[in-house]
Amino acid sequence: MARRKKVYEGKAKILYEGPEPGTLVQYFKDDATAGNGAKKDVIDGKGVLNNRLSEFFMTGLSSIGIPTHFIRRLNMREQLIRHVEIIPLEVIVRNFAAGSMAKRLGMEEGTALPRPIVEFSYKDDALGDPLVPEEYIIAFGWASQQDLDDIVSLALRVNDFLSGVMHGVGIKLVDFKIEIGRIWENDYPRLVVADEISPDSCRLWDIETGAHLDKDVFRRDLGSLSDAYTEVARRLGVLPSNVTHRPKPTLIN
Ligand code: 5GP
Repeated sequence: MARRKKVYEGKAKILYEGPEPGTLVQYFKDDATAGNGAKKDVIDGKGVLNNRLSEFFMTGLSSIGIPTHFIRRLNMREQLIRHVEIIPLEVIVRNFAAGSMAKRLGMEEGTALPRPIVEFSYKDDALGDPLVPEEYIIAFGWASQQDLDDIVSLALRVNDFLSGVMHGVGIKLVDFKIEIGRIWENDYPRLVVADEISPDSCRLWDIETGAHLDKDVFRRDLGSLSDAYTEVARRLGVLPSNVTHRPKPTLIN
């Protein structure tokens, strides 16, 4: 069988050329990183869970008319996606203060914000994805003012959808990051939600206990990341039956 051509490898995913022009295969790795790669581990089964969870969220978004890059899941670790031109921004939506915002402004984590806040970081690992104002984005040509207006409204619609879905299973959506891609249809650009939506890129807190069910478990050494992601998948009813993240017995024959 011919080997697939790798198009890009990131910290948590690999992109391969897809079967048809304009498509890619997105492979979810088990690798977990934090602090821009300073902390690394392999979490058995994380890729399988994130593949399923991202499929669940992307499919849900398209069902309410929000365009995404997702076409279909291919297997346990791979999904077929549309090849998009990624806008080099991390679009972050916050409902409650946490993480870098809480630190920057000296706010207590969990403080409710007066309204959802959308902010942008410039996607550049070497620079640690710095927060950038809209002025920079437009001046440096990363996106136009029209794009930004569309991105903000897209991000807020994603926020409404995700907050509602998570609330329905007893989880508070504190904040999340999405990436936006541009596709061309008959010479017209269209913005779509790209990359992934998973507990790697969201802050999810149990409404009752406040327990973290997201990548902060890994970033802050709060316990088992697999258990946290499995709990999210279980509540959403998307737990793949054969994910194993527990240590496997050693077979001796
Ligand atoms: P913060 O800016 O507080 O570190 O992150 C805000 C939100 O965006 C969190 O839900 C966090 O998981 C997500 N986020 C920010 N930067 C990244 C990133 O580089 N990768 C991923 N996967 N998520 C990010």
